[in-house]
Amino acid sequence: MKELLELDELLSDEEKKLRGRVREFVRGEFLPLISRAYEQGRFPAEAIAPLARMGLLGMKLPGYGRGASGVEYGLACQELERGDSGLRSFMSVTSSLVMYPIYSFGTPEQQQRWLPRLARGEKIGCFGLTEPEAGSDPSSMKTRATRDGKHWRLSGTKRWISFGGIADMALIWARTDEGIGCFVVEKGQPGFSTRAIPGMMSLRASVTSSLILEDVIVPESHRLAGARGLKSALACLNEARLGIAWGAMGAALACYERALDYAGRRVQFGRPIASFQLTQRKLVKMFTEICKGQLLALQVTRLRDRGQGAAELVNLAKMNNVAEALKIARCARSILGGNGVSLEFDVIRHMCNLESLYTYEGTHEVHCLALGRALTGISAFS
Ligand SMILES: Cc1cc2nc3c(=O)[nH]c(=O)nc-3n(C[C@H](O)[C@H](O)[C@H](O)COP(=O)(O)OP(=O)(O)OC[C@H]3O[C@@H](n4cnc5c(N)ncnc54)[C@H](O)[C@@H]3O)c2cc1C
Repeated sequence: MKELLELDELLSDEEKKLRGRVREFVRGEFLPLISRAYEQGRFPAEAIAPLARMGLLGMKLPGYGRGASGVEYGLACQELERGDSGLRSFMSVTSSLVMYPIYSFGTPEQQQRWLPRLARGEKIGCFGLTEPEAGSDPSSMKTRATRDGKHWRLSGTKRWISFGGIADMALIWARTDEGIGCFVVEKGQPGFSTRAIPGMMSLRASVTSSLILEDVIVPESHRLAGARGLKSALACLNEARLGIAWGAMGAALACYERALDYAGRRVQFGRPIASFQLTQRKLVKMFTEICKGQLLALQVTRLRDRGQGAAELVNLAKMNNVAEALKIARCARSILGGNGVSLEFDVIRHMCNLESLYTYEGTHEVHCLALGRALTGISAFS
């Protein structure tokens, strides 16, 4: 992409260096294997070790990752999602939805047991909040944890859980007599099973599962004692959402660059299709929205890194960037004509993935309502 805005001027040398390393890995090692993995509906687990080697798993957590800034995290998300949303999801889930809560709410023993292994990619975790009947409104969750002497008994079903089927451990959010709490449930515990969600047409290179808990007994030492109420779960999601705003721009960049290249080479009516005004209009719109989306993500992240800026700015960045990335992907698909629907050209894969981004970690509508509430002071949620 031509750097018309000279966005690199706004990044430090360290930030650009990290972006370059992740970009190189995605181009050289990940892109050659993603189409096939996507077709097979398989997460390319061979990507985990390089993510760990680059220090990307838990990268913001001092002592475990690189102690990275939010902007470094965002740039890594952008470059990973140029490859595939499933790859960025793996980094986001591990870093923001599994390591962050253990780091923030866990005991020193829980931190020692899990964080180094998760950071090295030796263990995989997942985040179980959503249920079949509790999506946008997680406060209506039915999964229950009941005290049983020095143990807890967990029962319920979680749905749409990224990497649930391959995870070694799950963080399960459950209702207790003292409010909503969070529990570590390990693979193989009696009463705990997972089921892949069939027929996925989006995020096929991730593994999305249901988690079934039938009287699973865990000791008190498996409760994240510092996790108190839904606000703790929402704090994890907020950590992850800015990464999605950056990641969506990565998918958009991949689609835009493919469309620009294709339009220059594809000849119809004796001319490259890039020479038609209608095609140029599409490319200009795509480019414009990428420039705006990157600036938005960067400014919101810099503010949040300094402890400034309303929390709703994160809603704004996630809502805008995913919606625009989806439009960009659809537009790129149209420029590629018939080739646009083939996995060989990547764009349809990004387009299908972005449909999940539109829904997960707060739907587009829920982010819009959060912003509406901030602007008007009136909640329109219920
Ligand atoms: C691929 C994928 C991976 C996921 N990974 C995870 C994960 O790892 N862990 C996890 O816990 N969850 C995960 N999720 C779940 C995701 O967060 C939920 O799908 C999301 O919160 C929406 O819930 P729902 O699907 O039940 O939709 P619903 O809440 O039923 O919403 C359906 C529609 O109604 C709209 N709606 C709902 N309430 C309102 C309202 N008040 N006003 C206006 N419109 C409204 C929504 O915006 C949406 O358009 C994942 C989902 C997907 C698709």
